[in-house]
Amino acid sequence: MESKTVRAKHKQYMLPSVANYYEEPVVLHEGQGSRVSDLDGKSYLDFFGGILTVSVGHANARVNAAVSAQLQRLSHVSTLYPTVPIVELAEKLVSVAPGNLQKAFFTASGTEANETAVVLAQVATGNQELLALRHGYSGRSILAQSLTGNSNYRAVPSQVAAVKHALSPYCYRCPLKLEPGTCGVACAKDLDELIRTTTTGRIAGMLAEPIQGVGGFITPPREYFEIAAEIVRKYGGLMIIDEVQTGFGRTGTMWGSQQYNVEPDLMTMAKGIANGLPLAATLCTPAIGEAFQASTISTFGGNPLSCAAAVAVLEEIEERHLVENAAKRGAELREGLERLQRQHPKTIGDVRGMGLMQAMELVVDETVRDRTPNPRATLQLFEETKKRGLLIGKGGLSGNTIRLAPPLTLSASEVAEGLRALEESFAAMGVG
Ligand code: PMP
Repeated sequence: MESKTVRAKHKQYMLPSVANYYEEPVVLHEGQGSRVSDLDGKSYLDFFGGILTVSVGHANARVNAAVSAQLQRLSHVSTLYPTVPIVELAEKLVSVAPGNLQKAFFTASGTEANETAVVLAQVATGNQELLALRHGYSGRSILAQSLTGNSNYRAVPSQVAAVKHALSPYCYRCPLKLEPGTCGVACAKDLDELIRTTTTGRIAGMLAEPIQGVGGFITPPREYFEIAAEIVRKYGGLMIIDEVQTGFGRTGTMWGSQQYNVEPDLMTMAKGIANGLPLAATLCTPAIGEAFQASTISTFGGNPLSCAAAVAVLEEIEERHLVENAAKRGAELREGLERLQRQHPKTIGDVRGMGLMQAMELVVDETVRDRTPNPRATLQLFEETKKRGLLIGKGGLSGNTIRLAPPLTLSASEVAEGLRALEESFAAMGVG
Protein backbone atom coordinates (compact mmCIF):
# COMPACT_ATOMS: atom_id res chain seq x y z
CA MET A 1 0.00 0.00 0.00
CA GLU A 2 1.29 3.50 -0.77
CA SER A 3 1.41 6.15 1.92
CA LYS A 4 -1.12 8.35 0.13
CA THR A 5 -3.55 5.38 0.08
CA VAL A 6 -3.03 4.85 3.81
CA ARG A 7 -3.72 8.53 4.46
CA ALA A 8 -6.84 8.45 2.29
CA LYS A 9 -8.22 5.31 3.94
CA HIS A 10 -7.39 6.68 7.40
CA LYS A 11 -9.34 9.81 6.58
CA GLN A 12 -12.24 7.81 5.17
CA TYR A 13 -12.63 5.24 7.95
CA MET A 14 -11.28 6.66 11.19
CA LEU A 15 -13.07 9.12 13.46
CA PRO A 16 -12.24 12.64 12.26
CA SER A 17 -11.23 13.63 15.80
CA VAL A 18 -8.28 11.19 15.86
CA ALA A 19 -5.24 13.34 16.62
CA ASN A 20 -2.58 14.15 14.04
CA TYR A 21 0.27 16.65 14.28
CA TYR A 22 1.09 17.26 10.62
CA GLU A 23 -0.51 18.87 7.57
CA GLU A 24 0.15 15.57 5.82
CA PRO A 25 0.23 12.73 8.39
CA VAL A 26 3.43 10.65 8.55
CA VAL A 27 2.75 6.96 7.81
CA LEU A 28 5.28 5.16 9.98
CA HIS A 29 6.28 1.72 8.84
CA GLU A 30 9.54 0.57 10.46
CA GLY A 31 11.63 1.34 13.51
CA GLN A 32 15.05 0.55 14.92
CA GLY A 33 16.53 2.06 18.07
CA SER A 34 15.82 5.81 18.09
CA ARG A 35 14.84 5.86 14.43
CA VAL A 36 11.67 5.20 12.49
CA SER A 37 10.97 5.36 8.79
CA ASP A 38 7.83 6.02 6.84
CA LEU A 39 6.28 4.00 4.06
CA ASP A 40 8.19 6.05 1.47
CA GLY A 41 11.50 5.18 3.15
CA LYS A 42 12.15 8.58 4.72
CA SER A 43 13.98 8.19 8.03
CA TYR A 44 13.26 10.17 11.20
CA LEU A 45 14.93 10.51 14.56
CA ASP A 46 12.13 9.75 16.99
CA PHE A 47 12.01 12.32 19.78
CA PHE A 48 8.52 11.33 20.87
CA GLY A 49 8.86 7.53 21.10
CA GLY A 50 5.25 6.76 20.17
CA ILE A 51 4.19 9.15 22.94
CA LEU A 52 6.67 7.81 25.48
CA THR A 53 5.88 4.15 24.90
CA VAL A 54 9.02 2.96 23.14
CA SER A 55 11.11 3.17 26.29
CA VAL A 56 13.99 0.89 25.28
CA GLY A 57 14.08 1.65 21.55
CA HIS A 58 12.24 0.45 18.48
CA ALA A 59 12.66 -3.25 17.62
CA ASN A 60 14.56 -3.83 20.86
CA ALA A 61 16.22 -7.23 20.43
CA ARG A 62 15.64 -8.47 23.98
CA VAL A 63 11.99 -7.41 24.01
CA ASN A 64 11.37 -8.92 20.58
CA ALA A 65 13.01 -12.21 21.54
CA ALA A 66 10.97 -12.42 24.76
CA VAL A 67 7.71 -11.70 22.93
CA SER A 68 8.48 -14.13 20.08
CA ALA A 69 9.30 -16.94 22.52
CA GLN A 70 6.13 -16.25 24.50
CA LEU A 71 4.06 -16.10 21.32
CA GLN A 72 5.18 -19.62 20.39
CA ARG A 73 4.21 -20.86 23.87
CA LEU A 74 0.97 -19.11 24.86
CA SER A 75 -0.43 -15.82 23.63
CA HIS A 76 -3.36 -15.22 25.93
CA VAL A 77 -5.37 -16.38 28.95
CA SER A 78 -6.76 -13.27 30.80
CA THR A 79 -6.06 -12.43 34.43
CA LEU A 80 -8.14 -15.49 35.46
CA TYR A 81 -5.06 -17.73 35.32
CA PRO A 82 -1.67 -17.18 36.89
CA THR A 83 1.11 -17.34 34.30
CA VAL A 84 4.89 -17.23 34.51
CA PRO A 85 5.16 -13.80 32.79
CA ILE A 86 2.54 -12.24 35.11
CA VAL A 87 4.24 -13.34 38.32
CA GLU A 88 7.71 -12.56 37.00
CA LEU A 89 6.58 -9.06 36.14
CA ALA A 90 4.68 -8.50 39.39
CA GLU A 91 7.71 -9.59 41.42
CA LYS A 92 10.08 -7.36 39.45
CA LEU A 93 7.77 -4.34 39.57
CA VAL A 94 7.22 -4.63 43.29
CA SER A 95 10.99 -4.92 43.83
CA VAL A 96 11.64 -1.60 42.05
CA ALA A 97 8.52 0.23 43.27
CA PRO A 98 8.85 2.95 45.89
CA GLY A 99 7.68 2.54 49.48
CA ASN A 100 5.33 -0.27 50.40
CA LEU A 101 3.65 -0.90 47.03
CA GLN A 102 3.51 -4.67 47.22
CA LYS A 103 0.35 -5.60 45.29
CA ALA A 104 -0.25 -5.34 41.54
CA PHE A 105 -3.13 -5.57 39.11
CA PHE A 106 -2.67 -5.50 35.34
CA THR A 107 -4.91 -3.99 32.69
CA ALA A 108 -4.49 -2.98 29.05
CA SER A 109 -4.35 0.83 29.23
CA GLY A 110 -3.43 3.74 31.44
CA THR A 111 -7.08 4.72 31.58
CA GLU A 112 -8.02 1.42 33.19
CA ALA A 113 -5.06 1.59 35.57
CA ASN A 114 -6.34 4.94 36.84
CA GLU A 115 -9.92 3.63 37.11
CA THR A 116 -8.62 0.71 39.16
CA ALA A 117 -6.60 2.99 41.42
CA VAL A 118 -9.51 5.34 42.06
CA VAL A 119 -11.91 2.54 42.94
CA LEU A 120 -9.32 0.97 45.25
CA ALA A 121 -8.86 4.33 46.98
CA GLN A 122 -12.61 4.78 47.38
CA VAL A 123 -13.10 1.32 48.85
CA ALA A 124 -10.02 1.49 51.10
CA THR A 125 -10.91 4.89 52.57
CA GLY A 126 -14.68 4.57 52.50
CA ASN A 127 -14.72 8.06 50.99
CA GLN A 128 -15.88 9.02 47.51
CA GLU A 129 -14.58 12.46 46.65
CA LEU A 130 -11.40 12.99 44.69
CA LEU A 131 -8.94 15.69 43.89
CA ALA A 132 -7.18 15.99 40.57
CA LEU A 133 -5.16 18.74 38.95
CA ARG A 134 -6.09 21.30 36.36
CA HIS A 135 -4.09 20.53 33.20
CA GLY A 136 -3.91 16.85 34.17
CA TYR A 137 -4.75 14.00 31.83
CA SER A 138 -6.03 10.68 33.14
CA GLY A 139 -7.51 8.87 30.14
CA ARG A 140 -10.48 8.35 27.90
CA SER A 141 -13.15 6.64 30.03
CA ILE A 142 -15.88 8.75 31.58
CA LEU A 143 -14.27 8.53 35.04
CA ALA A 144 -10.84 9.34 33.62
CA GLN A 145 -12.34 12.26 31.71
CA SER A 146 -13.80 13.51 34.99
CA LEU A 147 -10.32 13.46 36.50
CA THR A 148 -8.77 15.09 33.44
CA GLY A 149 -8.34 18.83 33.85
CA ASN A 150 -8.47 19.78 30.17
CA SER A 151 -11.62 20.40 28.14
CA ASN A 152 -9.86 19.42 24.89
CA TYR A 153 -10.32 15.80 25.99
CA ARG A 154 -13.84 16.06 27.38
CA ALA A 155 -16.65 15.76 24.85
CA VAL A 156 -19.52 15.63 27.31
CA PRO A 157 -19.78 16.90 30.89
CA SER A 158 -18.85 13.93 33.05
CA GLN A 159 -20.39 13.54 36.45
CA VAL A 160 -19.59 9.97 37.45
CA ALA A 161 -17.37 11.05 40.31
CA ALA A 162 -17.12 14.03 42.62
CA VAL A 163 -13.81 15.43 41.43
CA LYS A 164 -12.46 18.80 42.42
CA HIS A 165 -9.68 20.20 40.28
CA ALA A 166 -6.89 21.83 42.23
CA LEU A 167 -4.63 24.59 40.95
CA SER A 168 -1.87 23.28 38.75
CA PRO A 169 1.69 23.80 40.00
CA TYR A 170 2.35 25.54 36.70
CA CYS A 171 5.10 28.01 37.61
CA TYR A 172 5.44 29.57 34.16
CA ARG A 173 1.77 30.53 34.30
CA CYS A 174 1.32 30.61 38.06
CA PRO A 175 -2.42 30.41 38.80
CA LEU A 176 -1.82 32.63 41.83
CA LYS A 177 0.43 35.06 39.91
CA LEU A 178 3.29 34.47 42.33
CA GLU A 179 7.01 34.12 41.68
CA PRO A 180 8.53 30.63 41.87
CA GLY A 181 11.05 30.35 44.69
CA THR A 182 9.35 32.95 46.89
CA CYS A 183 5.75 31.70 46.61
CA GLY A 184 5.93 29.19 49.49
CA VAL A 185 4.30 26.69 47.12
CA ALA A 186 0.99 28.39 47.80
CA CYS A 187 -0.75 26.26 45.14
CA ALA A 188 -0.07 23.11 47.22
CA LYS A 189 -1.22 24.81 50.43
CA ASP A 190 -4.45 25.84 48.67
CA LEU A 191 -5.49 22.15 48.69
CA ASP A 192 -6.46 22.55 52.34
CA GLU A 193 -8.98 25.25 51.55
CA LEU A 194 -10.16 23.42 48.43
CA ILE A 195 -11.03 20.35 50.52
CA ARG A 196 -12.65 22.35 53.31
CA THR A 197 -14.71 24.52 51.01
CA THR A 198 -15.75 22.20 48.18
CA THR A 199 -15.95 18.65 49.59
CA THR A 200 -17.55 16.93 52.58
CA GLY A 201 -14.17 17.21 54.26
CA ARG A 202 -13.41 13.50 53.80
CA ILE A 203 -11.77 12.52 50.52
CA ALA A 204 -10.74 9.25 48.89
CA GLY A 205 -7.58 10.71 47.50
CA MET A 206 -5.75 12.89 45.07
CA LEU A 207 -4.62 11.71 41.66
CA ALA A 208 -1.66 13.57 40.17
CA GLU A 209 1.14 13.13 37.67
CA PRO A 210 4.69 13.90 38.88
CA ILE A 211 5.06 15.89 35.65
CA GLN A 212 1.82 16.80 33.86
CA GLY A 213 2.42 15.09 30.52
CA VAL A 214 -0.40 16.02 28.17
CA GLY A 215 -0.55 19.36 29.98
CA GLY A 216 2.83 20.17 28.40
CA PHE A 217 5.35 18.61 30.82
CA ILE A 218 4.31 21.00 33.58
CA THR A 219 6.93 20.35 36.24
CA PRO A 220 5.89 21.06 39.84
CA PRO A 221 8.31 22.59 42.34
CA ARG A 222 10.27 19.99 44.36
CA GLU A 223 8.29 20.70 47.55
CA TYR A 224 4.86 20.31 45.92
CA PHE A 225 4.07 16.66 46.60
CA GLU A 226 5.25 16.58 50.19
CA ILE A 227 2.93 19.45 51.09
CA ALA A 228 0.07 18.01 49.01
CA ALA A 229 0.37 14.53 50.53
CA GLU A 230 0.28 15.86 54.07
CA ILE A 231 -2.92 17.78 53.39
CA VAL A 232 -4.60 14.96 51.46
CA ARG A 233 -3.86 12.45 54.24
CA LYS A 234 -5.14 14.86 56.89
CA TYR A 235 -8.58 14.57 55.27
CA GLY A 236 -8.47 10.78 55.00
CA GLY A 237 -7.26 10.62 51.41
CA LEU A 238 -4.65 8.55 49.61
CA MET A 239 -1.99 9.73 47.17
CA ILE A 240 -2.52 8.18 43.74
CA ILE A 241 0.51 8.91 41.60
CA ASP A 242 0.02 8.52 37.87
CA GLU A 243 3.37 7.43 36.44
CA VAL A 244 1.94 6.64 33.00
CA GLN A 245 4.34 9.12 31.38
CA THR A 246 6.96 9.58 34.10
CA GLY A 247 7.62 5.94 35.02
CA PHE A 248 10.41 3.58 33.97
CA GLY A 249 13.34 5.94 34.16
CA ARG A 250 11.86 8.70 32.03
CA THR A 251 12.70 11.55 34.41
CA GLY A 252 16.19 10.30 35.28
CA THR A 253 14.98 8.36 38.32
CA MET A 254 13.06 5.10 38.08
CA TRP A 255 9.81 6.83 39.09
CA GLY A 256 8.80 10.45 38.75
CA SER A 257 7.63 10.47 42.37
CA GLN A 258 11.25 9.89 43.45
CA GLN A 259 12.05 13.41 42.28
CA TYR A 260 9.85 14.60 45.15
CA ASN A 261 9.64 13.72 48.80
CA VAL A 262 6.47 11.61 48.57
CA GLU A 263 5.54 7.97 48.97
CA PRO A 264 2.55 6.96 46.85
CA ASP A 265 -0.27 4.87 48.36
CA LEU A 266 -1.25 3.84 44.86
CA MET A 267 0.68 4.13 41.63
CA THR A 268 -0.39 3.65 38.02
CA MET A 269 1.79 3.00 35.00
CA ALA A 270 1.42 2.17 31.30
CA LYS A 271 3.06 3.56 28.12
CA GLY A 272 6.77 2.66 28.52
CA ILE A 273 6.08 -0.46 30.60
CA ALA A 274 6.16 -2.94 27.69
CA ASN A 275 7.94 -0.93 24.98
CA GLY A 276 4.68 -0.29 23.17
CA LEU A 277 2.74 -3.49 23.76
CA PRO A 278 -0.57 -2.78 25.47
CA LEU A 279 -0.16 -3.13 29.21
CA ALA A 280 -0.80 -1.09 32.35
CA ALA A 281 -0.45 -1.72 36.05
CA THR A 282 -1.88 -0.42 39.29
CA LEU A 283 0.26 -0.94 42.39
CA CYS A 284 -0.93 -0.47 45.94
CA THR A 285 -0.01 -1.22 49.53
CA PRO A 286 -1.07 -4.58 51.02
CA ALA A 287 -3.66 -2.88 53.26
CA ILE A 288 -5.36 -1.19 50.30
CA GLY A 289 -5.32 -4.47 48.38
CA GLU A 290 -6.91 -6.29 51.34
CA ALA A 291 -9.73 -3.76 51.53
CA PHE A 292 -10.89 -4.53 48.01
CA GLN A 293 -13.07 -7.63 47.94
CA ALA A 294 -15.10 -7.36 44.71
CA SER A 295 -14.12 -9.97 42.15
CA THR A 296 -11.53 -8.49 39.80
CA ILE A 297 -10.76 -9.60 36.26
CA SER A 298 -9.46 -8.02 33.07
CA THR A 299 -9.70 -9.93 29.78
CA PHE A 300 -6.63 -8.44 28.16
CA GLY A 301 -4.95 -7.31 31.37
CA GLY A 302 -1.70 -9.08 32.13
CA ASN A 303 -1.53 -10.52 28.63
CA PRO A 304 1.47 -12.90 28.64
CA LEU A 305 3.02 -11.29 25.54
CA SER A 306 2.88 -7.83 27.10
CA CYS A 307 4.11 -9.11 30.47
CA ALA A 308 7.04 -10.93 28.81
CA ALA A 309 7.87 -7.67 27.01
CA ALA A 310 7.68 -5.73 30.29
CA VAL A 311 10.03 -8.14 32.06
CA ALA A 312 12.50 -7.63 29.19
CA VAL A 313 12.07 -3.84 29.47
CA LEU A 314 12.97 -3.94 33.16
CA GLU A 315 16.01 -6.11 32.41
CA GLU A 316 17.12 -3.68 29.69
CA ILE A 317 16.68 -0.69 32.00
CA GLU A 318 18.75 -2.38 34.70
CA GLU A 319 21.52 -3.97 32.63
CA ARG A 320 22.03 -1.06 30.26
CA HIS A 321 21.77 1.54 33.05
CA LEU A 322 19.04 3.36 31.16
CA VAL A 323 17.86 5.41 34.14
CA GLU A 324 21.34 6.91 34.33
CA ASN A 325 21.35 7.35 30.55
CA ALA A 326 18.04 9.23 30.72
CA ALA A 327 19.54 11.57 33.32
CA LYS A 328 22.74 12.18 31.33
CA ARG A 329 21.19 12.52 27.88
CA GLY A 330 18.39 14.54 29.43
CA ALA A 331 20.92 17.01 30.88
CA GLU A 332 22.56 17.38 27.44
CA LEU A 333 19.20 17.88 25.78
CA ARG A 334 18.19 20.44 28.39
CA GLU A 335 21.43 22.39 27.93
CA GLY A 336 20.82 22.49 24.16
CA LEU A 337 17.24 23.66 24.61
CA GLU A 338 18.33 26.43 26.94
CA ARG A 339 20.90 27.50 24.33
CA LEU A 340 18.13 27.54 21.75
CA GLN A 341 16.02 29.64 24.10
CA ARG A 342 18.84 32.19 24.33
CA GLN A 343 18.86 32.33 20.51
CA HIS A 344 15.06 32.80 20.33
CA PRO A 345 14.15 34.50 23.61
CA LYS A 346 10.91 36.00 22.30
CA THR A 347 9.41 32.73 21.10
CA ILE A 348 10.72 30.11 23.52
CA GLY A 349 9.10 31.30 26.73
CA ASP A 350 9.89 28.36 28.98
CA VAL A 351 12.08 25.28 28.97
CA ARG A 352 11.13 22.66 31.55
CA GLY A 353 11.09 18.97 32.41
CA MET A 354 13.30 16.32 33.92
CA GLY A 355 15.54 13.69 32.34
CA LEU A 356 14.41 12.65 28.87
CA MET A 357 11.11 14.44 29.32
CA GLN A 358 11.81 18.00 28.20
CA ALA A 359 9.52 20.70 26.87
CA MET A 360 9.61 24.17 25.36
CA GLU A 361 6.58 26.43 25.62
CA LEU A 362 6.22 28.70 22.60
CA VAL A 363 4.72 32.16 23.01
CA VAL A 364 4.02 35.11 20.74
CA ASP A 365 6.37 37.39 22.65
CA GLU A 366 7.96 36.43 25.96
CA THR A 367 8.60 40.08 26.80
CA VAL A 368 4.86 40.83 26.77
CA ARG A 369 3.24 40.18 30.12
CA ASP A 370 0.43 37.80 29.18
CA ARG A 371 2.78 35.36 27.39
CA THR A 372 0.17 34.62 24.73
CA PRO A 373 0.49 30.98 23.60
CA ASN A 374 1.79 30.55 20.05
CA PRO A 375 0.20 27.45 18.51
CA ARG A 376 1.05 28.81 15.05
CA ALA A 377 4.79 28.68 15.67
CA THR A 378 4.28 25.21 17.12
CA LEU A 379 2.66 23.95 13.90
CA GLN A 380 5.39 25.62 11.86
CA LEU A 381 8.03 23.90 13.95
CA PHE A 382 6.34 20.56 13.32
CA GLU A 383 6.56 21.03 9.57
CA GLU A 384 10.16 22.27 9.68
CA THR A 385 11.39 19.44 11.92
CA LYS A 386 9.57 16.90 9.77
CA LYS A 387 11.46 18.17 6.72
CA ARG A 388 14.70 17.67 8.67
CA GLY A 389 13.85 14.14 9.77
CA LEU A 390 12.91 14.75 13.40
CA LEU A 391 9.65 13.68 15.05
CA ILE A 392 8.56 15.72 18.07
CA GLY A 393 5.46 15.92 20.24
CA LYS A 394 3.24 18.65 21.52
CA GLY A 395 0.93 19.33 24.42
CA GLY A 396 -0.50 22.03 26.63
CA LEU A 397 -3.99 23.44 26.90
CA SER A 398 -3.37 25.71 23.89
CA GLY A 399 -1.23 23.21 21.98
CA ASN A 400 1.82 25.47 22.19
CA THR A 401 4.25 23.27 24.09
CA ILE A 402 6.78 21.11 22.30
CA ARG A 403 7.25 17.80 24.07
CA LEU A 404 10.45 15.83 23.63
CA ALA A 405 10.65 12.29 24.99
CA PRO A 406 12.96 10.07 22.96
CA PRO A 407 13.67 6.42 23.84
CA LEU A 408 15.80 6.00 26.98
CA THR A 409 18.44 4.30 24.83
CA LEU A 410 19.23 7.61 23.08
CA SER A 411 22.94 8.27 22.44
CA ALA A 412 24.87 11.53 22.90
CA SER A 413 25.27 11.89 19.13
CA GLU A 414 21.52 11.47 18.68
CA VAL A 415 20.91 14.24 21.22
CA ALA A 416 23.22 16.47 19.18
CA GLU A 417 21.50 15.46 15.94
CA GLY A 418 18.05 16.27 17.32
CA LEU A 419 19.23 19.62 18.66
CA ARG A 420 20.77 20.47 15.30
CA ALA A 421 17.46 19.77 13.55
CA LEU A 422 15.65 21.96 16.09
CA GLU A 423 18.17 24.79 15.65
CA GLU A 424 17.89 24.68 11.87
CA SER A 425 14.10 24.56 12.08
CA PHE A 426 13.91 27.62 14.32
CA ALA A 427 16.32 29.44 12.03
CA ALA A 428 14.12 28.57 9.03
CA MET A 429 11.04 29.88 10.84
CA GLY A 430 12.80 33.21 11.29
CA VAL A 431 11.33 33.86 14.73
CA GLY A 432 12.82 36.01 17.48
N1 PMP B 1 -2.42 9.04 32.40
C1 PMP B 1 -1.53 9.80 31.77
C2 PMP B 1 -0.62 10.68 32.55
C3 PMP B 1 -1.44 9.77 30.37
O1 PMP B 1 -0.55 10.55 29.74
C4 PMP B 1 -2.30 8.91 29.66
C5 PMP B 1 -2.23 8.80 28.14
N2 PMP B 1 -1.80 9.92 27.46
C6 PMP B 1 -3.22 8.14 30.37
C7 PMP B 1 -3.25 8.21 31.75
C8 PMP B 1 -4.16 7.22 29.67
O2 PMP B 1 -3.48 6.13 29.15
P1 PMP B 1 -4.09 5.29 27.94
O3 PMP B 1 -4.09 6.15 26.72
O4 PMP B 1 -3.16 4.11 27.84
O5 PMP B 1 -5.45 4.86 28.35
